[in-house]
Amino acid sequence: RAKTEGPGKVVLFEPQMHAEALARLTLNGDLQRALTLGEFRLQYQPLIDLSSGETVGVEALVRWQNPDRGYVSPADFVPMAEETGLISDLGRWVLNTAGRQAAAWRRTRPGLGINVNVSGRQLTDPQFAADVERMLADTRLPPEAVTLELTESVLMSDPKTAIACLRDLQDLGVDVSIDDFGTGYSSLSYLQRLPVDELKIDRAFISRENPTTADLAVIRTIVELARTLRLRTVIEGIETEAQRNAMRLLGCDLGQGYHLCRPVHPENLLASLGTAEPGRRAA
Ligand code: C2E
Ligand code: MG
Ligand code: MG
Ligand code: MG
Repeated sequence: RAKTEGPGKVVLFEPQMHAEALARLTLNGDLQRALTLGEFRLQYQPLIDLSSGETVGVEALVRWQNPDRGYVSPADFVPMAEETGLISDLGRWVLNTAGRQAAAWRRTRPGLGINVNVSGRQLTDPQFAADVERMLADTRLPPEAVTLELTESVLMSDPKTAIACLRDLQDLGVDVSIDDFGTGYSSLSYLQRLPVDELKIDRAFISRENPTTADLAVIRTIVELARTLRLRTVIEGIETEAQRNAMRLLGCDLGQGYHLCRPVHPENLLASLGTAEPGRRAA
């Protein structure tokens, strides 16, 4: 089948293209429906103070369990939701749900912080700061209990716009973290000017079972950079005790990973934290 594209242009419409387009359309429809039907859930993964072992916060991670598709990874549906714009509604749902949950947990764990992932499209939405402000008012969470995670690539693709959006969040008093740090191409001059509080070092740097001296040197350099800029550091993807010790010795503030705790359903979180004293965020 042939399809015309612009004046005098004929493009062959490959059957395979058709199948892909159809699959994407269906996925998009299913995503919209999933939000209405309440098929999204949040799991929470602890952030641990590496020197004291205390849980100081949890990261909310969205999950989609669909009767037909089974479990779909956020790595697959979040990009789709960003493309179609559904991420605005989904992101607002995540923000409010995680905020409510954190406020409930803080009644027994007063210092517990909550990290929420935010997509680029949400950040530049003129409504976003107001959404965060409303969530804080509704849940009565103190702003310093909330950390918004934005990826390095989002912040660096248009740093000037990002800086302006981040200022509004800074005015609200919430913290901002640069997620997957080290995988994008941060301009050091912009990094210095970004109003952020935390660098979350991508797990790529410790993903090898035996991190090389070069891997460790990169992490050490990021930790030193963070110290100079007075930013907190978090390392993701800690899967072994050796990695945990290495990261603690390098002076990384917080850690996250399967070895410390897997993402858990909210009803299991308090039990998985054990009876340790309520945590406080490292400065
Ligand atoms: P992320 O924000 O970097 O989240 C960390 C990911 O690493 C999570 O994957 C987590 O389950 C996984 N992880 C944690 N510890 C380990 C470990 O020790 N080893 C390994 N191999 N992986 C570990 P998940 O939950 O599949 O999420 C993937 C990505 O999807 C997230 O990466 C984030 O970019 C995005 N995402 C998840 N929830 C949301 C959300 O609510 N909003 C937005 N915009 N994006 C989200
Ligand atoms: Mg994250
Ligand atoms: Mg991350
Ligand atoms: Mg990552």
